[in-house]
Amino acid sequence: MADFAVIGGGIGGLATALFAARRGHRVAVFERDARAPRGSGSTLDEDFFGWRRPGVPQAAQPHLMLGAARSVLRAEAPDVYDAIMRLGARERHELDWFEQRPPARPGDEDLVMVQARRIVVETALTDALRAEPRAVLRYGEPVTGLLVDPSCAPPRVRGVQTERGAYEAELVIDAGGRRCASGEWLTGAGCRPPVVERHRTGIAYFCRWYRLPDGRADGPTRPWTVSGGTFAGCAVFPADNGVFAVTLFVHTEDPTRGALRDPAVFEAAARTFPPGAAWLELGARPLSPVLATAGLDNRWSVLVDEQGPIATGLIGVGDAVTHTNPTIGQGMSLALWAARRVARETDHGSREQGSPDFIAEHYAWAQRTLKPWFDFQVTTDRAIGERFAGREFTAGPARQMAALFECAQEDPEVMRARARVRHLAAPPAEAYGAPEVRARVAAWLLAHPDYVPNTVGPGRREWEKITAP
Ligand SMILES: Cc1cc2nc3c(=O)[nH]c(=O)nc-3n(C[C@H](O)[C@H](O)[C@H](O)COP(=O)(O)OP(=O)(O)OC[C@H]3O[C@@H](n4cnc5c(N)ncnc54)[C@H](O)[C@@H]3O)c2cc1C
Repeated sequence: MADFAVIGGGIGGLATALFAARRGHRVAVFERDARAPRGSGSTLDEDFFGWRRPGVPQAAQPHLMLGAARSVLRAEAPDVYDAIMRLGARERHELDWFEQRPPARPGDEDLVMVQARRIVVETALTDALRAEPRAVLRYGEPVTGLLVDPSCAPPRVRGVQTERGAYEAELVIDAGGRRCASGEWLTGAGCRPPVVERHRTGIAYFCRWYRLPDGRADGPTRPWTVSGGTFAGCAVFPADNGVFAVTLFVHTEDPTRGALRDPAVFEAAARTFPPGAAWLELGARPLSPVLATAGLDNRWSVLVDEQGPIATGLIGVGDAVTHTNPTIGQGMSLALWAARRVARETDHGSREQGSPDFIAEHYAWAQRTLKPWFDFQVTTDRAIGERFAGREFTAGPARQMAALFECAQEDPEVMRARARVRHLAAPPAEAYGAPEVRARVAAWLLAHPDYVPNTVGPGRREWEKITAP
């Protein structure tokens, strides 16, 4: 069995380490942050609201777990999934939008959203990894460089360097997220640079956490939890233990953006959207200030170019390969797919871990499996950007897509197609291109000839009044 070194103890790193340790490998996880979830869920709120994590700012933002991630956990680590549920997460089947769930079809069982704060998932994964005899978690020990043997062609990564020492490993897994410096370390050691594709998104997010009033376990089931206008949108994220988040999103160049950090302005603005109004009027108790995040690119980064692997002994998982803007919420799913793939591949005793073939196949798999979803994220964000920039979105494919989402709320067949894409169970071309779905959306549009997309929410004048200093 091999020795693995994992850079980063986020969702991607914890999952890869756990799946590999359970296959008999020795795994060391190096995490920059000196603190970790306290364990067993006894301090969830303290860990979530009291832990400043500048290296992982998104940890405080809402995280939905899609059906794709849920399926990996239930298959690879059912105990972890059970722990997530025990810690207070909730499951929501997409077809329960309708008062009566439509007759089941094969695959419907995967159309389930897990609603929990990210700390719930991290706590369950960390607890499981701590119990693995072959796993070591090294908190507060950032990786500062790679041990690279330049005499090989391509250069071979043989381990990691930290301030406390050098650690040899047969395979190094970069799960350090979007900010990890492994690309610089490689080029510094004489490797060709990673191949990076980057798309700016121009969306800023503002989120605030709340708790439902005592005695209330659930929020309203209607309206739909996301609604978007022409220059701003609002989403509600139900989570674990009666906690939920309200998020507003606007263009990064919107001059009203700064005002949304003020809790009173934030709430007034959120109430102008149907989901914000429905959840805030319950008398929920705020649990946090308004948390802002922006500057999130969609970034694809691979360690293979047209000449083959730029190094051996090192592969990426999670955001290190596929950093995606969260409008679809697929980051954890893509990370868990990669974690499972790495663990399964290391089962094959016949091939050396980290060999040129191993690396090339990992990235060929990523290109086939992850890249189409990365591209879908880019397309989705481009459409939002066009809308927020005031460009044409009321006709053509943008109107068609918006109509599909409206139609889904009335038609279970279209909702199923939407949910299959949402949960990464079927690519959009397959699910939305099905003749039955196209016919239903066309009929819906015929019945709504005056339909104009994205007209919910405030008008610009009202918005500027709310956000005025
Ligand atoms: C605003 C926002 C909202 C999101 N919402 C969702 C959502 O709803 N659903 C979803 O599935 N995904 C969502 N995501 C994406 C999700 O957070 C990630 O895709 C997922 O957690 C996988 O990340 P990761 O483990 O690869 O990296 P990270 O979560 O960034 O973890 C990387 C870890 O590596 C550590 N690290 C970095 N460098 C070093 C080093 N040199 N040495 C040691 N440790 C290091 C960091 O401290 C960190 O703990 C969201 C992302 C953002 C930005």
